[in-house]
Amino acid sequence: MKENKEGFITRSLHAPFPKNDAYNALHMPVYDGVAYEFDSAEDIADVFAGNKVAHAYSRTSNPTVEYFEHKMKAVTDAHAVVALSSGMAAISNVLIALVENGGNVVASNHLFGHSYALLKQTLPALGIEVRFADMTDMEKVAEQTDELTRVYFFETITNPQLEIVDISRLSELAKQKNVAVVCDSTITPPYVFKSMQFGVDVEVMSTTKFISGGAAAFGGVVVDNGLFDWSKLPAMKEWVVDYNKNALVARIRKEIFRHLGGTMTAHTAHFMNLGLDIMALRVDRCVDNCKHLSAYFDSHLKIVSSNYPGVNSHESFDLAQEQFSSKPGAVMTFDLESKEACFQFFNRLKLIRRATNLNDNKTLCIHPESTIYAEFSDEEKVSMGIRPTMMRLSVGIEEVEDLINDFKQALDF
Ligand SMILES: *Cc1c(COP(=O)(O)O)cnc(C)c1O
Repeated sequence: MKENKEGFITRSLHAPFPKNDAYNALHMPVYDGVAYEFDSAEDIADVFAGNKVAHAYSRTSNPTVEYFEHKMKAVTDAHAVVALSSGMAAISNVLIALVENGGNVVASNHLFGHSYALLKQTLPALGIEVRFADMTDMEKVAEQTDELTRVYFFETITNPQLEIVDISRLSELAKQKNVAVVCDSTITPPYVFKSMQFGVDVEVMSTTKFISGGAAAFGGVVVDNGLFDWSKLPAMKEWVVDYNKNALVARIRKEIFRHLGGTMTAHTAHFMNLGLDIMALRVDRCVDNCKHLSAYFDSHLKIVSSNYPGVNSHESFDLAQEQFSSKPGAVMTFDLESKEACFQFFNRLKLIRRATNLNDNKTLCIHPESTIYAEFSDEEKVSMGIRPTMMRLSVGIEEVEDLINDFKQALDF
C-alpha cells in the first residue's frame, strides 16, 4: 500500500488538476458544457476508438467531475473512482455491473430503505437473486453463499440500528469464496474509514451526506480499491480483456453511463469539491457533539436508553474504534418511554429540524417508525429493530450547548 505523508485535508485541498487550467484558476471551474470539439477527423476517431483519452460528451466524462474523482482518489488511495448522480445510482450501477442474470448477492438484512427496495424488487426483476443475512454472523453469510454468489453487500454502520460488521472477517470469507465485497460507507466517509485496510473491494458512498456537507446537492461515488480480480466474475469477463484492472470503472463509464445515464453533473461536482475539502473538520465537530450528547442522554431521566457506537457502552465499541478511527459517524438514536412521548418531544423541538436526511451541517431528527419504515409490517419493523419509542438524530456542527438547550426545552416541562 502506498505510504501517504500528507494528511486527509491537505491531500484533498492540493490534489493537482488533471490538466493545467487555461486561466490558472486556483479552484476547479465548473465546466458546464455538454460536448467537446476536436482538431481533426483522426483526433476524434482516435478518441472514439479508445486509443486516446479525452472528454467527448459529459454523460461519459467531464473536467469538473473528473477533478472530484481525482480528489476522491487522492484521499482514499483507491485504484479508481467514478462519480455518479446519487448514492442510489452508485449502488445500483455497481450491482448491475458486477452481477449477471442468474448470479446472486448476499446482502445485510439491515439496509438503507431504498437500497433494501432495490435489492428486494428491482434487481430480482432483472434476474439477479438477492439473499438477506445477518452479516454480523459469518456462519449465516457462509450458509447463504454458493458458486453463483458474486457480491457481499452491507453498510459500515447500519441505520438506525447502528450495528457494525467485522469487515476484515467478512473480507476473509469473501476471499475464500471468490466473492467481491461491496460496502456502503456513506456514514463513515474515507476520513474515518480506510476501506482498503479491511479488505473491501468496492466502496459506494452517497456524497449527498457528509461529503456535500450542506446537503445542497445529490451525488454518489464508486471507489474501486483495486484488490479484486474482476476476471472471476462472469459479468466482468469481457471488460477485463480490454481494461484489465480498470474493468469495473470502464464498464460503468462506457456501458452503464451510456445506457442508464446516472452521471454526476459539473455543478454537482463543484459542490462536492467544496464539501470534500472541509469534510474532515465537520466530521470531527459532529463526532465531538455526539459524545457530548451521549453523556447528556445518559444523565436524563426521560431518556430510557441511547445508542452511539463512539461510547464504550455500545456493544461494538472496540470494533468501531478500530474500523472507524474512533470516529464512528454522527448518527445516534435514543428511546423515550412511549411513541406519544416521542411525538410530543418531536413537536416541541425548536432548533433541531424535523427532517429525514443524514449528515447535514444542521442537526436533524426523525421518528423512524412512523416515517421511513411506515410502509413495513409490524413484524418487519421488529426484525429490523425499529421501535415506536425510538428517535434518530443526525448530529450537525452547531455549538453543542445550543443542541442541549433545545433538548432541555423539549423534554423538561
Ligand atoms: C442516503 C443514503 C443512500 C442513498 O443516497 P442518495 O444520494 O440519497 O441516493 C444510500 N445509502 C445510505 C447509507 C444512505 O444514507
